[in-house]
Parts: sequence; C-alpha cells; structure tokens
Amino acid sequence: MKKTILVSACLLGISCRYDGKSKPSEEVLALSEKYNLVPVCPEIYGGLPTPRTPSERVGERTLMRDGTDVTENYLRGAEAALSLYRALGCQAALFKAKSPSCGVGEIYDGSFTGTLTARDGVSAELLAREGIAVFTELQIRELEKYLDKL
Ligand code: SF4
Repeated sequence: MKKTILVSACLLGISCRYDGKSKPSEEVLALSEKYNLVPVCPEIYGGLPTPRTPSERVGERTLMRDGTDVTENYLRGAEAALSLYRALGCQAALFKAKSPSCGVGEIYDGSFTGTLTARDGVSAELLAREGIAVFTELQIRELEKYLDKL
C-alpha cells in the first residue's frame, strides 16, 4: 500500500502563498508516483486570506509585517494540519523550507530583514512535538530513506 505524506500545498502548485503565488517543486510532484500526497496550507486553515501580508515568528507570537498579531491563526492552522495528518494516516510531513508555518530548523528571525534563525515554523514545531518526522523540500532523499525504513 502507498504511504501517505502531508505536503505544503504551495509545493504542489497551489497558489496559497502570501503573495498569491505557489512554489511548485518538480521533485516533490514526482513523489506522487510512489506516495499519496495530501496538500495542506496551515495559514489558509488558520483563516488567513490569500494574498496576505507576510508574517514572521517574533518570540512567542507571530506577527504580520504591519504588526497585526496572527498568533492564533498560526496555532489554529497548526492544529488543523495535525488533525489532517492523523485523520488521513500520514507517515511523514514534507514542508516548505523557511516558512513561519512550515519551515523546519530554519526560519526568518522576526526582524523582517531576511535574516534566518535556527527555529521551526509553528506547524512544523507542533508536528515534531507530536513525534512526527518533518522534512523540507531540500531533504527529499532523507524523507524517502525514512519512509523506506517504516
Ligand atoms: Fe506554503 Fe506552508 Fe506557507 Fe501555506 S503556510 S503557503 S503551505 S509554506
């Protein structure tokens, strides 16, 4: 039976990014030959519109560039992503690098200056805390190795 991966929707060509665009990855799309891919956009699930003002994690909060506090939207989106993961029996998550929701191990630092810091996005953090293996589109080989061992 095909294994199932929860995937950032923008990587699959869905135009859900803050700028109204997508970020399709041929390598990610090619995974559909071997796996079931389940798209999720935590920021949309959290009730934010597209396009939207970009946000970054600032301490324990998540703020838009104009200062609007969207912490609750990001948390709601993360809970929705976790629920979807569980409801559809996913075995791993493949998330968009550097996003304040989806980034894994490295995101922008809250200064809105393009500076990166060592931290997970809100959804990646919640899934990892629940013991879920979360990868980015830059770690597809590692993801496949992980799935092969299950
Ligand atoms: Fe893509 Fe995740 Fe941002 Fe949605 S929240 S646009 S899926 S990186």
